[in-house]
Amino acid sequence: GSRFSKLSIQPPIEVFNLMKAYQDDPYEKKVNLSAGAYRTDQGEPWVLPCVRKVEAAMAADTSLNHEYLPILGLEAFSQQATALVLGGDNPAIVNGLAFGVQTLSGTGALRVAAEFLCRQLGFNVFYYSDPTWGNHGLVFKSAGFTTERKYRYWDSEKRGIDFDGMIADLKDAPPNSVIILHACAHNPTGCDPTLDQWKQIAQVIKEKELFPLFDIAYQGFASGDADKDALVVRYFTSLGFELIICQSFAKNFGLYNERIGNLTFVVNAQEVIAPIKSQLSIIIRAMYSNPPNHGARIVATVLSNPEYNQEWRECLKVMSGRIREMRELLRGKLESLGTPGTWDHITTQIGMFSYTGLNSKQVETLVKKYHIYLLRSGRISMCGLNRNNIDYVANAIYDVVV
Ligand code: PLP
Repeated sequence: GSRFSKLSIQPPIEVFNLMKAYQDDPYEKKVNLSAGAYRTDQGEPWVLPCVRKVEAAMAADTSLNHEYLPILGLEAFSQQATALVLGGDNPAIVNGLAFGVQTLSGTGALRVAAEFLCRQLGFNVFYYSDPTWGNHGLVFKSAGFTTERKYRYWDSEKRGIDFDGMIADLKDAPPNSVIILHACAHNPTGCDPTLDQWKQIAQVIKEKELFPLFDIAYQGFASGDADKDALVVRYFTSLGFELIICQSFAKNFGLYNERIGNLTFVVNAQEVIAPIKSQLSIIIRAMYSNPPNHGARIVATVLSNPEYNQEWRECLKVMSGRIREMRELLRGKLESLGTPGTWDHITTQIGMFSYTGLNSKQVETLVKKYHIYLLRSGRISMCGLNRNNIDYVANAIYDVVV
């Protein structure tokens, strides 16, 4: 017998499974609404022009090479990334109480953060919103957290946040629980707390001595303004919280496969920074030794160059603007078809996704009969819609709902 014969096959990762099924599907009118990746109105991936320019310059620059980066990554990148999320004039930065380390995209930031919180601080309870991005539980459990809990978030009846439920669940959390919070453009619901609600959330986190961890994978994608999308993080730092921020540059720079992310710490004493960095170095050394340079160079160059920075901010407006347009169009078409139910949530939700409210049976019909690929939860990526396929999708939704 084989040493491996006791292994079983686990369920596939839903979103990657759907992407493969979509790719293999020969049907001409197939539509991919599963992946959280931007597409142009022609349905193509978009390499941002400022990224292309920097890549061209890098390719021509013979002084660059492929030497190892330090364990904690490219310092110039981490400084820019930290300033992007906190705001360059944030007192935490000015007073030397914030720093970042480069990670393997947002997922890598979360994993390093989780390993650190579990092994170095002994935290073992983590909370995420119900529902959340499909990987939070797996990442934290794999990092050693023993107790996985959800706080109520989504009220499917009113298609909005179950705020009282959320607050009640946070109030029940034991001290030192890590509370994963989506800083903006909540995945999958597209619904964020209001600033007033954030104030109440902050109050409970402080009172109950919980640990806030912000996951920010869509900075600039929600409103089109990177500063606006970071407001809640900046609000928390203004209250003096020690916290962690996990940033991804996959979506807002279109650098999905370059695995470029940043893990930011905000602390309240300078003397803890060197020990934290030392412990992070050991965690990262054991996991992957050091991160890749390409994406870090691109992001650092774009953010530090005023001209490129401006071009990038325009790209954010283009991407978020096209998504908003698709929201208007889809809602309008569903309503003018007389599709039963209410569809205003399509335009009130923000960010890349819409939580349609379609049930799993309806989703199955969309996939099987119409070759429209979306998650079982009814989440669709608005980026997969464009002027060529929106009628087809609206008609199909009408057909499965009616
Ligand atoms: N967090 C959330 C909420 C996400 O939606 C994603 C990506 O979809 C990530 C983190 C991490 O993505 P990546 O590892 O590609 O940066």
